[in-house]
Amino acid sequence: MVYTIRKFRVFMVVAAILIISTYLYIDKPYSNYDINHIKEIDNKKIEEIKDYYLKNINISNDNNKYIKVKKIFIKKNQTLGLILGKLNISTPRLILKKFKSNCLYKLNVKDEIIIKLLNKKLVSIKRKNKNIECLYESNNNKITKITKTKNNFKEQLVFFNNISNSFYNSAIKSGLSPNEIMLFADIFGWDIDFSLDIRKGDSFGVVLERIYSNGKKYDRSTIKYAVFKNKNKIIEAFRYNNKYYNKKGTPLEKQFLKAPIDFYRISSHFNRKRLHPIFKSVRPHLGTDYAAPKGTPVYSTGDGIIIHKGRKGGYGKAVIIKHGNIYTTLYGHLSKYHKRIRAGKRVKQKQIIGYVGSTGYATGPHVHYEFRVRGVHKNSLKIKFKKGKKLSKKNINKLKKIHQTNINKYTWLRKNYIK
Ligand SMILES: [Zn+2]
Repeated sequence: MVYTIRKFRVFMVVAAILIISTYLYIDKPYSNYDINHIKEIDNKKIEEIKDYYLKNINISNDNNKYIKVKKIFIKKNQTLGLILGKLNISTPRLILKKFKSNCLYKLNVKDEIIIKLLNKKLVSIKRKNKNIECLYESNNNKITKITKTKNNFKEQLVFFNNISNSFYNSAIKSGLSPNEIMLFADIFGWDIDFSLDIRKGDSFGVVLERIYSNGKKYDRSTIKYAVFKNKNKIIEAFRYNNKYYNKKGTPLEKQFLKAPIDFYRISSHFNRKRLHPIFKSVRPHLGTDYAAPKGTPVYSTGDGIIIHKGRKGGYGKAVIIKHGNIYTTLYGHLSKYHKRIRAGKRVKQKQIIGYVGSTGYATGPHVHYEFRVRGVHKNSLKIKFKKGKKLSKKNINKLKKIHQTNINKYTWLRKNYIK
């Protein structure tokens, strides 16, 4: 029995020695105490030990246990100052200063604001929306603006077709979208009436750019070049500075005269809330009245086609002219029409269409002149007509330079489709 106990003790001691020595020899770093007190440790070991502790320190920092993140979407009348105030933080001075790259000075509704705090102190403020990312960091008191590169993608395409009966149908068949057809009609609308002038054998060609943003279906198109053959006449349009010109630099868009008569006095302005002089009630005055003696010639303010000639309620004897694809003008209270005026006939700018009178509801002789854009009344005196001037030689050269890379496409279109 005694022998057994002894044997057991020896076994225990050996086991204990083994366990202790394993523990001591296992590859574990020394404690801080060791680093400072064991002089015998070689330098390599010290570096290893330091690394070990640094790593541990970094790891605990990376966890950002104490960093608080606040995410807010800006509502109406909410300011950064108000948001920070609620967090008991004063707005950094830099943010309050107005300078060009301070993208935190003004916020927009729905902007995302991300505020980071460490121990109740400001670390950073980030502003995000779909166009911009703006970061303030308090450690270096700096605002960094990161303008997001818009994920825009452009594609240049060529469309063409012969016109069998309707321009619209042929254009749809060519692959143009209804929107693009409108753009096209607006360019040529000054020279071509798409409902009256189209003949069998007419043809067209377009070089356009479709712009896709953020991977969506194209949301914008720009016509770079267009050509139209109408009744054996070929009209070309080159885009330059958002307008269209022919090869010689003449703008396709025509201008309007400021007024339909030469010598006049404006007796009533465009006014949506006017008290009517005859009816004594609020009736909008959707035109401008030009008072002049009876019989004074009235001109068409632009090239166009007469779409109405005749009595028209309160307007009395009236003429309506369509200019290009989107504009119409109306001339009311005429005493008589010019003898050559008929509906469907073309008129030139400053051609006499009739004479001043006071037919219809009028208190005295005047022309009531209305200007509409796509059917909507506009104040003709306030519309700014970009001057449709002919381009200078220098600008014609610029135009040519812009279109140089596409010249082959244009030539191909004209050769193969616009014969
Ligand atoms: Zn009037």
